[in-house]
Amino acid sequence: MIDLQKSKAAFEEARKFMPGGVNSPVRSYPHMGCPPPFIASAKGSHITDIDGNTYIDYVGSWGPMILGHAHPAVISAICKAAENSTSYGAPTLKETEIAELIHSVYPSIEKIRMVNSGTEATMSALRAARGYTGRDKILKFEGCYHGHGDSLLVKAGSGAATFGKPDSAGVTKGTAKDTLVTPYNDIPAFKAIMDAEGDEIAAVIVEPVAGNMGCVLPVPGFLEALREETAKYGTVLIFDEVMCGFRTSSHGAQSFYHIHPDMTCLGKIIGGGLPAAAYGGRKEIMACIAPDGSVYQAGTLSGNPLAVTAGIETIRQMMNIPDLDKKLAEKTSALLEGWKESADKAGVPLICHQSGSMFGIFFSEKDVLNYQDSCEANAAQFKAWFLSMLDQHVYLAPSPFETLFMSWAHTDEDIERSIAASRKAMEEAAK
Ligand code: PLP
Repeated sequence: MIDLQKSKAAFEEARKFMPGGVNSPVRSYPHMGCPPPFIASAKGSHITDIDGNTYIDYVGSWGPMILGHAHPAVISAICKAAENSTSYGAPTLKETEIAELIHSVYPSIEKIRMVNSGTEATMSALRAARGYTGRDKILKFEGCYHGHGDSLLVKAGSGAATFGKPDSAGVTKGTAKDTLVTPYNDIPAFKAIMDAEGDEIAAVIVEPVAGNMGCVLPVPGFLEALREETAKYGTVLIFDEVMCGFRTSSHGAQSFYHIHPDMTCLGKIIGGGLPAAAYGGRKEIMACIAPDGSVYQAGTLSGNPLAVTAGIETIRQMMNIPDLDKKLAEKTSALLEGWKESADKAGVPLICHQSGSMFGIFFSEKDVLNYQDSCEANAAQFKAWFLSMLDQHVYLAPSPFETLFMSWAHTDEDIERSIAASRKAMEEAAK
């Protein structure tokens, strides 16, 4: 077994001072029966823990590290910016530069507001949509995660969902009742809710490619139905591209599927590994935001010079790599094909999903189209496979409900090694 002695001790110490020993729950390796590796450093496609184990990393800080860790140009841009101070709380040229850059990639984002996290982006986009429409209700899809804002911590727990049952303690019934939930990829169910309540719904928010129930792709016609129905009822359509942004394609899921939402939320990649996110969209909606309009939203560190610099450099580097999308997608397919073959050989049913450079697997015989399907996948097999992969120095998200990420830094050798590791891991899963 891999030596995690130092991580084990560090985790025990951390648990004395932090809930679960972590600053974000899934980092604590819930249900995996081993301590989380405590990380010392990372470079390119590799991440190293405090015990000195180096792994091939497919977590990529949960999405931002599309160029790989510690990309020299990104690090150098951050260091240079830091010499001029780390924050001013005043306008800078770089903020307009990133706004223009994002608009050039996402033309539907006519105006943008930078924030510090994906949570803030979705929360603020919803407030804007409510301010714009004068309506209270919002509609989300079961299994989609949009950060931890109160009105979004509601998911469908079977029938209770329609009545807005809170998924987290601490969310008031009053808040939850304005959040409607319906299954992802179920066009008739979505239309039925819109027919019944569309006039009262301020916003429909969706991950156009879902990444928080494992990686689940939209079925043909689903995103089209969202666009048509929201237009019919004057409801604001919000694409939460915090995860799939720049991943499904470098112009986003909206360009890949040719569906243009009214608003978009971005995060992860646009901060290049530092805390930055954004929401934006149609000019007339964004005109509601303070100081132009009456929807208040602000931030001491919003548009932070280091985070914005890291984001600009990351996006520019991406733009300079010829055929980036194609090459990232090819690397991802090669890995998944290898993993699938390893599963077939071990007699383990496996479904593989990919959207550009985001991907996931389900230990399932039937395809996974929604949260319910994802819950039915075999958790024990996932755990056995995951632990064996970790043991063989392949670093994956410790939950079947998370998505994995390929980076530009991953080499053919990384992919071959990860496939070889899966051969053994699938045999463990088959036991
Ligand atoms: N939206 C989506 C689709 C996400 O995947 C996440 C986080 O993973 C968020 C929002 C929240 O972002 P953050 O963790 O930066 O608050």
